[in-house]
Amino acid sequence: MSLDIASHPVRQGFDELVPSRYALRVGDIDVLVVSDGVLLLPGAMLAHNADPAVRAAWLADNFLPPDAFDWALNVVVVRSGGRTILVDAGMGAEFPDLPRSGRLVLRLEAAGIDLASVTDVVLTHMHMDHVGGLLADGVRERLRPDLRIHVAAAEAKFWEAPDFSRVSMPPGFPDALRRTAKRFLQEYQSRMRTFETEYEVAPGVLVTRTGGHTPGHSVVRLASGGDRLTFAGDLVFQVGFEHPDWYNGFEHDPEEAARVRVRLLRELATNSEMLVATHLPFPSVCHVAVAGNAFRWVPVNWDY
Ligand SMILES: [Zn+2]
Repeated sequence: MSLDIASHPVRQGFDELVPSRYALRVGDIDVLVVSDGVLLLPGAMLAHNADPAVRAAWLADNFLPPDAFDWALNVVVVRSGGRTILVDAGMGAEFPDLPRSGRLVLRLEAAGIDLASVTDVVLTHMHMDHVGGLLADGVRERLRPDLRIHVAAAEAKFWEAPDFSRVSMPPGFPDALRRTAKRFLQEYQSRMRTFETEYEVAPGVLVTRTGGHTPGHSVVRLASGGDRLTFAGDLVFQVGFEHPDWYNGFEHDPEEAARVRVRLLRELATNSEMLVATHLPFPSVCHVAVAGNAFRWVPVNWDY
């Protein structure tokens, strides 16, 4: 059988053979995980404090290439109480060397989500792969004038004079991250609504500051009926279950990031709630189990 794309009446550019969105419900809350694409990044960044041989063995065990591989970049749309909430915004066009990211707007359109319908944006933090989508050409003009952007006060403050002394990033990244965050503050400051420790954006949608990855890093916790789901942003990476003490190159305070990661994974393993995270393989919906001194990630079966 040949794949006859011409026989399908789809709009050019809107049909993709690999799925890029996944919908689920958490009680009365609608959740849509949308892929912004992938980031080709060095594997070493997953664990810059690990013995290189041990890290190489982990990559080999997971059938990942030794040098660089595609990190997922997941964004979430949440609908609750009449509000449409975009959690993070993907990469946009902030880093030309990562051309297979920045698909969010196209994929929202393909999902029938108009940018003008978004009432709130929640930022887990202000790294460029989380805010860049709002800086892409033509996006700002299409957002509603009363859009509210929720971010921890500590995060906005951090980017006024960010500390990069503990990170381990490839050349070019620190400058690009500084530049993007600065531009974001300039363009969106008037729409930003900061919170100290937590804020209920809509019924059952709570954004909570964790710190660690960045000082104002936050997670989004959904609860409705008996269902619960946490969007963990950059607290958990693919290595983080087996090796929660491995430092990610993007973490500005790696010791604290590891402490926060372990605390969250322990909690999720205890209460059985679902986890979604930015850089876990799409759509990343999973449960967490305890495995000896570490954890195990258990992907949820796709519900078609
Ligand atoms: Zn990230």
